[in-house]
Amino acid sequence: MTARVTHWINGRLWEGTAERSGDVYDPATGKVTKSVDFASRATLDDAVAAAKAAFPGWRDTSLTRRAQVLFAFRELLNANKEKVAELITEEHGKVLSDALGEVTRGLEVVEFACGIPHLLKGGFSEGVSTGVDVYSIRQPLGVVGIISPFNFPAMVPMWFFPVAVAAGNTVVLKPSEKDPSASMYLAELWKQAGLPDGVFNVVHGDKEAVDGLLENPDVKSISFVGSTPIARYIYETGTRNGKRVQALGGAKNHMLVLPDADLDLAADQAVNAGFGSAGERCMAISVVLAVDPIGDELVAKIAERMPSLKVGDGRRACDMGPLVTGVHRDKVKSYVDAGEAAGATLVVDGRTGDVDGDPEGFWLLPTLFDNVTTDMTIYADEIFGPVLSVVRVPSFEAGVQLINDHPYGNGTAIFTNDGGAARRFQNEIEVGMIGVNVPIPVPMAYYSFGGWKNSLFGDTHAHGIEGVHFFTRGKVITSRWLDPSHGGINLGFPTQS
Ligand code: NAD
Repeated sequence: MTARVTHWINGRLWEGTAERSGDVYDPATGKVTKSVDFASRATLDDAVAAAKAAFPGWRDTSLTRRAQVLFAFRELLNANKEKVAELITEEHGKVLSDALGEVTRGLEVVEFACGIPHLLKGGFSEGVSTGVDVYSIRQPLGVVGIISPFNFPAMVPMWFFPVAVAAGNTVVLKPSEKDPSASMYLAELWKQAGLPDGVFNVVHGDKEAVDGLLENPDVKSISFVGSTPIARYIYETGTRNGKRVQALGGAKNHMLVLPDADLDLAADQAVNAGFGSAGERCMAISVVLAVDPIGDELVAKIAERMPSLKVGDGRRACDMGPLVTGVHRDKVKSYVDAGEAAGATLVVDGRTGDVDGDPEGFWLLPTLFDNVTTDMTIYADEIFGPVLSVVRVPSFEAGVQLINDHPYGNGTAIFTNDGGAARRFQNEIEVGMIGVNVPIPVPMAYYSFGGWKNSLFGDTHAHGIEGVHFFTRGKVITSRWLDPSHGGINLGFPTQS
């Protein structure tokens, strides 16, 4: 019998019987290991009701106490990060060290949110008129919905919920149904940290649960991360229903390599950023733009590094794990077939090769294409797998033009030793996150994460100050008091709680 994953509502496991459920796989063995309950509209509404009931108490909990709960959660998460990483590897397939890296990046957002007393400080102007002062405050929204993708089952939810909770909101998280266990474990850690029941809820499911979040009037905002078609749907539906929405979509990240770059560094980073996590990262590099005349040399350097990559079960000492499901593996493989049929040069074919793992696992090895052109689907589409395409371009300007013409605008990188070129690149490029000799420029927690164009619908990026603003609303107060004011006598030492 497979283990069951169910919802976490009001501080405990849901005790109902689900009408629908989904399979959770171990991608390294290809076996179904768990069954995850899918929430009906009624179950989703119960979770929202629990979050709504918890909101007034949590909103009115002092900043000092809220920060203490955040610090306790941080300590618990840090002490148990290996356990979270194991859960991720079991269901997603990424290698353990990569899973641990993901938890660490989530932890950084928790640490950022521990500073919430400082982050929520408003402004004060004394004496804007005679006896009149003006000041600003930021208040939580209420119940906030978070919908996350399969590829970062811990980090992506943690881009949002630490800030949301710290700011005084209550949360309903709908994680990916493909790897639901990490968020359940995080819910348990919240409880141990002293978070009141109902402040953090996890509801599993598919479109039915998502539509419930989009339509329930008590849900005030939606933070979504996933593919672009769904992100667009979430943004349009959520805003039509009066909600604040940030919907982060897909990506096709280009790495522009100029002739003056250190080509060994560029080749190392193309391999790391192209094949890490089997290319299932929204910030993975999937296109290398080689500026003439370095194409042949760069392709040779990338290709010569690829045979050393060890592909296998993420619990073993491997560089790259399987893809998340058999269906996704087959889809990625069909792109390799399509690239070959379209006439791209298949330099390294990942459809066959040695794997250190169960033959039934969802394997596909790293693939490298050269001479890719913009009319090919391997260039136009987000593949989300270990497939790297090299496009030859005649100049810096041609490379910039290609990046700016692509509908996605999540991340990009330039490799060069020319500071002037790098500066011009960061100025002219229409992409949200840019690396200079850094292939995966994921911002630190105190900056904000988000793309441009079809990679983000909405105005506000995740975490950092933009995250604090997303999860709070501003108020400005203009006040006049009679002078002198009066107060009682109190000789006690002032405390904050
Ligand atoms: P997905 O769009 O299939 O699913 C994302 C979420 O939406 C899941 O919780 C899923 O259950 C839900 N969902 C799926 N179909 C739905 C539907 N028809 N209606 C409503 N909800 C639906 O994405 P995925 O495959 O889980 O994740 C990979 C995608 O996420 C890639 O496109 C990747 O680029 C993107 N991603 C983007 C970022 C970013 O920062 N921009 C970060 C991580 C992942």
